Amino acid sequence: MVRVRFAPSPTGIQHIGGIRTALYNYLFAKKNQGEFLLRIEDTDQKRLIKEAEGALLEMLRWLEIEPKGNIVHQSKRLDIYKKYAKELVSKELAYEKDGAIWVKMPESKSFEWTDLVGNKHIRFEGKDQKDFVILKSDEFPTYHFANVVDDHLFEITHVFRGEEWISSTPKHLYLYESFGWKRPEFVHLPVILGSDHTKLSKRHGAKSVLDYRSQGYLKEAVLNYMALLGWNPGGDREKMSLDEMIELFKIDHINSANPIFDQTKFEWLNGVWIRSISTKDLQERLIEFYSDDKEVTETLKSSKSPDLVKVAASRMKTLMDFKSLVSKTSQREKTREEIKIAKKLKTFLTQNLKTWEDAELLNAIKEFSKEEDIPFKTIFFLLTGKEQGIGILELNQIYGKDFLISNLEGK
Ligand code: GLU
Repeated sequence: MVRVRFAPSPTGIQHIGGIRTALYNYLFAKKNQGEFLLRIEDTDQKRLIKEAEGALLEMLRWLEIEPKGNIVHQSKRLDIYKKYAKELVSKELAYEKDGAIWVKMPESKSFEWTDLVGNKHIRFEGKDQKDFVILKSDEFPTYHFANVVDDHLFEITHVFRGEEWISSTPKHLYLYESFGWKRPEFVHLPVILGSDHTKLSKRHGAKSVLDYRSQGYLKEAVLNYMALLGWNPGGDREKMSLDEMIELFKIDHINSANPIFDQTKFEWLNGVWIRSISTKDLQERLIEFYSDDKEVTETLKSSKSPDLVKVAASRMKTLMDFKSLVSKTSQREKTREEIKIAKKLKTFLTQNLKTWEDAELLNAIKEFSKEEDIPFKTIFFLLTGKEQGIGILELNQIYGKDFLISNLEGK
């Protein structure tokens, strides 16, 4: 049976790259009817960050890629690591120095494996490896040791992790060999780069999944975009739900080149998702998103809400765009010249229009624009209060004549 684990160290808030590893684990486990476990590698006590675990769990919960069963905390398993460290000492494969236990690396061996990303054969020579600590003098294990012991005890079949761990893998292989344990397959994921082709970091505006949530990204878009950072099912298919990704996921399709995080594409994909869920669903998500904003909540609960949500959706990249799109407040004050034009336009429309039906309104606007030689974008601003946004006719349908006129009257 396939059994994978996500094994973060709670030394910081995971950004999107870390959660991509969780997602690939999840997709692979689901695809193969396997198990996905969560192990918190909290052995480096000095570097622990209190909020990290809670934030991580919240991310997995929001994205609905939660692990199965209990969460393992390595800091609660010190006795186990100690026992195994002693075993290596008694086999004379490890030795004590300065109160710590070290593994002696054999110079004559080589360490090799075929990484499942790109089926790449990787080999390290023992002579280039150094002895390393497995148990520190405070009795905490090091990452390398606890990681291997647990992957063995939990019968992990595939290790998905960032490619920055490739150079640690010889140590891990030697530990498997020393204990006579079967080693898992390794799937080292190419690191995500920013637009300047250096490792994605806060400098590039890399954010945590929770930041994207508060900026109005849908979980479907976050999952979808994260998945595409290093994997695609072939062809030009880009929009996929979690279930579709499970269906299509294959390690063979993980790209061995480093993916580049493209903010514009992420926003585009979010817009695609916003338009693909039902108006009712979008309305509910907006209500939740704007729960602290009285004004928007009122709009969302009004009878006009479904119409507004529908027309706004076609122009939204994130849920955050909704507020300015539907706000009745003008984006800026009119210039003196614009005030004059607005007055004229008001007189023109009130004198010429009978029904204020769309066709009639549109004709009148065209006529006014031609006769007075006023560009359409000025008229758009005067009638809607926005440089761009929901169209005049749509606002005429939703808010009606009085709203358009009031825009012409105001400052
Ligand atoms: N604790 C390591 C990390 O945070 C886990 C690496 C691994 O999966 O082996 O990346």
